[in-house]
Amino acid sequence: MYQTRNIISTFTAILSNPIEYLKGVGPQKGELLRKEIQIYTFGDLLQYFPFRYVDRTRIDKIADLNGYEDFVQIRGRIINMVVMGENRSKRLVATFKDESGTIDLVWFQGWQWMQKSLRENVAYLVFGRISVFNGVTQLAHPEMDLLTEEIASGKQFLEPVYYTTEKLKARGLTAKAIGKLTRNLLEQLSPLEIRENIPLEVLQQYRLMPRAMAYFKIHLPTGEEDSRQAQRRLKFEELFIAQIRICRLKLKRQQQSHGFVFSTVGNTFNDFYNNHLPFSLTGAQKRVLKEIRTDTVHGRQMNRLVQGDVGSGKTMVALLAMLLAKDNGFQACLMAPTEILSQQHYKSIAELLEPTDVKVALLTGSIKGKARKKILEGVINGEIDILVGTHALLENEVAFKNLGLAIVDEQHRFGVAQRARLWEKNTIPPHILVMTATPIPRTLAMTIYGDLDVSVIDEMPPGRKPITTVHRTEWQRPQVMNFIKDEVAKGRQAYIVYPLIEDSEKLDYENLMKGYEEVKAFFPEPKFYISMVHGRQPADQRQTNMQRFVTGDTHIMVATTVIEVGVNVPNASVMVIESTERFGLSQLHQLRGRVGRGAEQSFCVLMTGNKVSKDSKERINVMVQTNDGFIISEKDMELRGPGDIEGTRQSGILDFKLADIVADRPILDAARTSAEKILENDPDLLLPENQGLKDFLASQRSKSLWSKIS
Ligand code: ADP
Ligand code: MG
Repeated sequence: MYQTRNIISTFTAILSNPIEYLKGVGPQKGELLRKEIQIYTFGDLLQYFPFRYVDRTRIDKIADLNGYEDFVQIRGRIINMVVMGENRSKRLVATFKDESGTIDLVWFQGWQWMQKSLRENVAYLVFGRISVFNGVTQLAHPEMDLLTEEIASGKQFLEPVYYTTEKLKARGLTAKAIGKLTRNLLEQLSPLEIRENIPLEVLQQYRLMPRAMAYFKIHLPTGEEDSRQAQRRLKFEELFIAQIRICRLKLKRQQQSHGFVFSTVGNTFNDFYNNHLPFSLTGAQKRVLKEIRTDTVHGRQMNRLVQGDVGSGKTMVALLAMLLAKDNGFQACLMAPTEILSQQHYKSIAELLEPTDVKVALLTGSIKGKARKKILEGVINGEIDILVGTHALLENEVAFKNLGLAIVDEQHRFGVAQRARLWEKNTIPPHILVMTATPIPRTLAMTIYGDLDVSVIDEMPPGRKPITTVHRTEWQRPQVMNFIKDEVAKGRQAYIVYPLIEDSEKLDYENLMKGYEEVKAFFPEPKFYISMVHGRQPADQRQTNMQRFVTGDTHIMVATTVIEVGVNVPNASVMVIESTERFGLSQLHQLRGRVGRGAEQSFCVLMTGNKVSKDSKERINVMVQTNDGFIISEKDMELRGPGDIEGTRQSGILDFKLADIVADRPILDAARTSAEKILENDPDLLLPENQGLKDFLASQRSKSLWSKIS
């Protein structure tokens, strides 16, 4: 299919021309351009942006070159050319001279042709990468340009450099040749062919150059500022169009999807809130609850994401929302990604609701036979008000009498498709609340989660003591062990966590066992008891071991990252993480969140070998310096790039040509604000000033990408 890469098909006829019709291309090169770099049309070539520019006016002096430069550019003449070496090591060596000295230019391949085409004693501009061969600095296979007047004039001139492939180069389509094709195209292109797609007001507000100008200038900038402004405009365009699409998708869902109306706050909610709430809500919890309330009174389906750092109190918000459902004659369910988490949720919710007449039940894969049957009956006949469980809730056999609210905890463990299955649990889709502890910067969350509304719990319950985090190396292991001993003597508990990486499971297992033996030797029974938990254990054994730690029968929990999500043992005050280097920042933060849940001062000890790489050191420093999940996730993105944030990799939504949602955050924010403002005034884009944008959207053909976003 043509157009696969073409995201700007508002181009007029000429830009939809097949690439082989461009001057200098033809059928053979056309085929190659399609195959190698997916350039099908004139428009595709126009959007084939340079990845860097070479400043053709910055000249190095030969005498100053010392071999540590990356690329250099020199100006001078060839004073001598010889062919050296035998057989396969035969090469052409040209002695090149400027006013400061001489250097060798060397060609190992294609040297016969170079020998014929190069001339002595004419002025060249030479560009290449310095290499050192037998202790002598030289330039191998440099680019050779006859010095043009334009360059010699000394006016700044940036040459665009385009990505190319070996196959393209072999057919003469070097970076330079691609640049030439682009110039051919621009020469025959009138700016009128490139229609504006950003409303004028936005262009003016952010001082963006017109679209046509940006396309010309990104390929042919007259200077650095020029190319920067062209890029800024085109990045803004990419992000703005993406935001417009996301916002429109959301608007459409809001207009179309009917939802249940939770019109009253009734007795159940009020009784619980006034008489049984064990603490007062934080401001953030109250705010999010209000947002949920607003979502559920309008007769539209709620689709809301609640982000809140570990320990910020998401469960209470979920519970209160479920009580609202009950007050309005609906059932609610809460789905968690693991059996352990579901059990914990069930236990704490059942305890909290003990004094009320709300019926809560638990359904997981391990509940079988009669017990299961009884629960399923209670769900269908409406006896059960709140059903807590794992993805077992998604099974067809789980049919509700009247499900009004479905809550999903720890969203990133569930796929979009699974979430969609919850929609089918009633005649009208129930309200959906997704809770995640992976803090993502707000604008990014809106980009990734598409049409979900986002709420943030950005406040911790009062009285928490910030966790003290330290870095310790192998040398200090005895002190770390003694420290654990002291804490246990004070009646506290400790976690020791080992990394788990799928492709070396065996090794991880061995590490864990070795660690376990060491810990056991240091903490002998009957004074100390240890629980061990890992993925290779049968579920029930793992369960028992976990349970013993939860109830305080064991003092130390040796585990792999299976404990990462959700486990709540407020008495645990120490988290020791082994081989810290092998964890990502967000994961470290999740693990650390297992402690600091009670009133006691808690500690996180990051263990590493005695030598630590610069990279690891940087991550460890972030952990030591802050407890703030948002700062950590920003840092994580900075270090690893957005592609590594869980759930974003396959979404396709982060595939921008120019924009980088981390580095270009200010542009992303501005694009989001503009998009929202425009759609607020003119949701169907009917105003004349939005016509260009509307035409552009209509002409975009790659709908498939967008249908993937939910
Ligand atoms: P998370 O957001 O990680 O799911 P939880 O809902 O498990 O956090 O809450 C963590 C702990 O904080 C729980 O023990 C909970 O009872 C307690 N908690 C929640 N909200 C408050 C509050 N407003 N004041 C005091 N403690 C709270
Ligand atoms: Mg939780």
